[in-house]
Amino acid sequence: MIDMNVFHGFLEAIRHLPEMARIEPMEDAERVTRAKGVMRAKMDRSLALDLEACVNCGYCSEACHVYRATDDPRFAPSRKLDLLRRLHKRETAAFAPVRRLFTPDITADDLREWQELVYDGCTECGRCSLVCPMGVNTARGVNVMREALFEAGLAPPELLAVSQEQAGRGTVFGVGPAELKEAVAALAAQGVVLPLDLPRADVMVVTTVIDVLLYHDALAATARILNHLGVRWTLRSAGFEAANFGLLAGNEDLQRAASRRIVDEALAIGATTVILPECGHAYPALRWEGRLDDGRPLPFEVLAASEYVGREVTAGRLKLERLPPGQRVTYHDACKLARHGGVVQEPRAALRAIGVDLRETEPTAEQNWCCGGGAGTFLINRAAPLRHKAWAIKRDQIDATGADTVVVSCGSCRLNLMAGAEADAWPVQIRSLVEMAAAQLPA
Ligand code: SF4
Ligand code: SF4
Repeated sequence: MIDMNVFHGFLEAIRHLPEMARIEPMEDAERVTRAKGVMRAKMDRSLALDLEACVNCGYCSEACHVYRATDDPRFAPSRKLDLLRRLHKRETAAFAPVRRLFTPDITADDLREWQELVYDGCTECGRCSLVCPMGVNTARGVNVMREALFEAGLAPPELLAVSQEQAGRGTVFGVGPAELKEAVAALAAQGVVLPLDLPRADVMVVTTVIDVLLYHDALAATARILNHLGVRWTLRSAGFEAANFGLLAGNEDLQRAASRRIVDEALAIGATTVILPECGHAYPALRWEGRLDDGRPLPFEVLAASEYVGREVTAGRLKLERLPPGQRVTYHDACKLARHGGVVQEPRAALRAIGVDLRETEPTAEQNWCCGGGAGTFLINRAAPLRHKAWAIKRDQIDATGADTVVVSCGSCRLNLMAGAEADAWPVQIRSLVEMAAAQLPA
């Protein structure tokens, strides 16, 4: 059961995040120098190709939930990369000395304008790239812009505050090892065993602040499934937090440090598998971008919780009891899992195993619409109206299926759906995939 008081408390905490941000005073000239330094450093071959390949056809705009929800040309995906394009033309492209004569330099006002475009107005969902005839990776360019703005002291104060907390005390929203221990003890009192800090284990489970505070049933469900399967697993208090505010805010050093905590703990216990919680952005942060210090790939497998459950079901190791017929369910694909990670079949395998009437949205799977709150936009207070407009696309898409339940496997999507549901008095139930699977474990 979700405690709505905790949910509202979390929303209230988000409202106060800007008060906690330590904002570095900076002259405009310094901001521009720093931002351009990041853009220059990140201008590798693939980014340069992306910038040069765009033919301004506009297909990406129709695929972008932010543009579609607003009809505002400022939110056209290709435009979000215009500052990078300008820097490339002036400094790194062929004939740059000539192009510089016709291309205006970047100003601090440009940087301030782009804050809204690349933080509030892009969830890095990657949907625009699916339709781009030139294969432009807009989400990657947007992430580079976030890094440039972070360096220029222009990250949104909410993301700045949480990233500063994670970099400093190592906690997120005040949740650290002590709070994890309390959550483990509370679940133990309910009969759910969560092995904490075992020195050796095959599987290391990573959780996240939002599960410790709000969605503890999702953490309990993962534990119950692993215990049922007889897996030797553990949580590690020195590396339990999956949320990576370095990635979301645009601070690469913090992104690496947050991933390193998890990697170090997994190596220390000899884990062969790391299971991430229902958290979309944690997946690319560790699975695709996680590396050992020397750059080699991680020596263990990284799986999302929904991916693990689906695989075990498909392999026949996890048997689930079927629900009574007539449960009309649809599945919301988190962008970072489905589009960026290919986790499409596994959650559906788990849902089919429990016998729901699975109704696909149109479009679905890799093409599914974003919930509107990914990549940290859920935490940006000024983005609330924009987020709500984008969420309406998701809501209408789910309504068209006739489902009475939408299943998610990302806590961030779940938060955004819950906020949208509350604002619109939307009656569709929002459920977690691992929770639904664990509820059908045989006695
Ligand atoms: S779809 Fe691709 S080529 Fe067309 S405008 Fe968008 S980024 Fe440019
Ligand atoms: S990544 Fe998603 S939100 Fe960002 S521009 Fe592309 S479609 Fe829009």
